Amino acid sequence: MTALRLEKLAHSYKSHPSRPEDYALKEINQVWQTGGAYALLGPSGCGKTTLLNILSGLVIPSQGRVYFDDRDVTELPTEKRNIAQVFQFPVIYDTMTVRENLAFPLKNRGMDPAGIKTRVDEIAALLDLSRDLDRRAKGLTADAKQKISLGRGLVRPDVTAVLFDEPLTVIDPQLKWELRSKLKEIHRKLAVTMIYVTHDQTEALTFADKVIVMSEGEVVQIGTPEELFEKPLHRFVGHFIGSPGMNFLPCTLAGTKARIGGFEIDLGVSFAADPKAKLELGIRPDFIKLAPPGVGLPVRIDRIDDLGRNRIAHVRLEGQRLAVTVPAILETGSDDLTVVFDHRRIGIFANDRRIEPDDRGGA
Ligand code: ATP
Repeated sequence: MTALRLEKLAHSYKSHPSRPEDYALKEINQVWQTGGAYALLGPSGCGKTTLLNILSGLVIPSQGRVYFDDRDVTELPTEKRNIAQVFQFPVIYDTMTVRENLAFPLKNRGMDPAGIKTRVDEIAALLDLSRDLDRRAKGLTADAKQKISLGRGLVRPDVTAVLFDEPLTVIDPQLKWELRSKLKEIHRKLAVTMIYVTHDQTEALTFADKVIVMSEGEVVQIGTPEELFEKPLHRFVGHFIGSPGMNFLPCTLAGTKARIGGFEIDLGVSFAADPKAKLELGIRPDFIKLAPPGVGLPVRIDRIDDLGRNRIAHVRLEGQRLAVTVPAILETGSDDLTVVFDHRRIGIFANDRRIEPDDRGGA
């Protein structure tokens, strides 16, 4: 069964949109499966909330249709959509106990008291709220209140989807880390479709099976966390995912070689690129090695940042900045070193989009 289908969906807040920039959400066609954990990831203003509001019924799209389980819900109000929502800030009743808060969405839909108790106990246990069930919400910390909000979103067993809008914003950093993993675990247990909006790549990559990366109103890639890391299809994804992001170097192509300034890099395969396109070679810092002089392409080290688990060397190749992951102990002896690229991990990008190798070419 299909959970959510977005057909030729687009939205402009302007009454007469004419240019692509007039759209807060550019056309998307997506099918999201029942029980999936999805994240909408992108920087502020990229259209995440617009898309979420279209799913929840707060915004009627200016173009296209939204289907829940083959039911056209495009114009249905929120309360008729059978969805649950969790917002950035707690939405709870302060005067009620935690149990009453969690039970509320179930009582509202006429569930029998025994069923309510079982479900509330289950959700409270998943969120470590069991001990607080009989306390009034009023005296609890902001963290605990947001956990109740999460519980209220998760408690109904019959929803089409649970929508989360940056739900961990108010959570203390330490607890944030725990809750992120917990939400993933809860998703596995409850197997309900969850859609999680965030601008934080760690939250998106920890939580989601599939991440929908958005930039300037456009879905630039939908993929598993591994796919986004290993094979970004758009320059934006390479840059946005990873810390630091992918390196991009302007290049030209000749047969199976890429040329960066005066240097050649063997790609092992050839690419048929539009000769007028802006061409770039993309490679993640993890797939470049520093080597002694004479081995690879000569670079100069600008500085080395210690990130705890690893270190990042910032170097210059032909004047271009390049980030390289280096081991904790690096005996350089000199600022003049070389870099070696793992050619299997190189992507070629034409006008910001990854291009595939040419079938005919290559070793
Ligand atoms: P944030 O993380 O800051 O909430 P976002 O990725 O959720 O950003 P949206 O809020 O969907 O992005 O905004 C997308 C674009 O649409 C932005 O340019 C924004 O200014 C515009 N926009 C959002 N809501 C409205 C509105 N009600 N009227 C007009 N323009 C809007």
